[in-house]
Amino acid sequence: MSDFDMFCYQCSQTVRGEGCTVKGVCGKDATSARLQDNLIFAIKGISAYNYHAKELGVSDPEVDEFLTKALYSTLTNVNFDIPSLIQLGLDAGEANFKVMKMLKEAHIEKYGEPVPAVVKQGAQEGPAIIVTGHDLKALEELLKQCEGTGVKVYTHSEMLPAHGYPELAKYEALAGNIGKAWFDQKKLFADHKAAILGTTNCVLIPKDEYADRLFTMDIVKVPGATVIEDYDFTPVIEKAKELGGLTAEETTELTTGFGLSTILSLAPQIKELVLSGKIRRFFLVGGCDTPNPKMSYYREFVEQIPEDCIVLTLACGKFRFNDLDLGDIEGIPRLIDLGQCNDAIVAIELAVALCDLFEMELNDLPLTIVLSWMEQKAAAILWTLLYLGKTDMFLGPVLPAWCNEDILNVLVSQFNLTPTSNPKDDLKKILG
Ligand code: SF4
Ligand code: SF4
Repeated sequence: MSDFDMFCYQCSQTVRGEGCTVKGVCGKDATSARLQDNLIFAIKGISAYNYHAKELGVSDPEVDEFLTKALYSTLTNVNFDIPSLIQLGLDAGEANFKVMKMLKEAHIEKYGEPVPAVVKQGAQEGPAIIVTGHDLKALEELLKQCEGTGVKVYTHSEMLPAHGYPELAKYEALAGNIGKAWFDQKKLFADHKAAILGTTNCVLIPKDEYADRLFTMDIVKVPGATVIEDYDFTPVIEKAKELGGLTAEETTELTTGFGLSTILSLAPQIKELVLSGKIRRFFLVGGCDTPNPKMSYYREFVEQIPEDCIVLTLACGKFRFNDLDLGDIEGIPRLIDLGQCNDAIVAIELAVALCDLFEMELNDLPLTIVLSWMEQKAAAILWTLLYLGKTDMFLGPVLPAWCNEDILNVLVSQFNLTPTSNPKDDLKKILG
């Protein structure tokens, strides 16, 4: 644990006017302070998904009501009760479940249910726009406006799964994907003379080399970038043309876009393969990626997963290993990309469908979840899985900093959560 177990400076009673770092003057202890912080982080994650859902015209008053209640619970002198703060974490998981479901349904209604798509990875010749972030509506509007201009649009990071949506893939301008997870932006964008559009969180403060060709929109604002108003992407398209265009690189291929229906259409075959022992286990491996060298755990982990297991993945953690050719098990791909972080809802719906298929409870399924976390959306997703009663998950390689020993003990004792160690030992624990 860190030198100071808590930090709170939200009211004027705070120690020396600087911050309560051991125990609150109000009586708040470190664990309740951290659980309040955790709640705020989860709320931030839910709010991001809720915001995108509202952009698509859908909302849920119960979610909005929960967000207000949860925030109020973190005010000074309201809640010092650890069990109820844990329950609020679980309630946040429930609210996030609802909001992810609502967002997914809105995406499907607008863009169709994703189908597997093979995507060209790497630059092609010609003027280009690179779109990063999670906002599919922004991508759609941009694609419409690029039609007939000769400008190619590339996805980056969490935008990759857009290629699976039929109503987005139909645009000729959607050319491929460039780069990997969010944190390669500074080098990637400096190296590629394209206009860049940052649509959501996980956009970095630009280097001078590309600040004048970086555009953001709506809530996203970074120094040096131009903010686009009302989905009018004319300046982005003009900038792409003015830059002259990218030089063609050697391209590879990535597959994305496995929607629930696609996977469920394989259900009878999957059942047979599981019952005959040809598929031993499913792994859901993914989450938010970070530049931390310890994150190489995920590639090593997937490389060491035995050939009779299927790997499901989502969010930008997938870029650690989605270039691997894992082959298939009698036609069932061994690497299945379910989409963005909010598509954790697809993984959940798939798990529920597998429960029906095998007439099993969630925690009896041959399914192990190995989750990385970076920021607040991952906190919301973690609490959703805990709210659903999913136990035996692996989390790491860096644990959320709001976990002190007390909180970790709860996660371990109530949910059998295991901090990751090394791929070999973890796989041995899982597979025996
Ligand atoms: S709310 Fe409590 S812990 Fe926070 S600054 Fe005020 S006295 Fe300190
Ligand atoms: S998965 Fe997480 S870290 Fe990655 S781009 Fe999305 S929010 Fe950011």
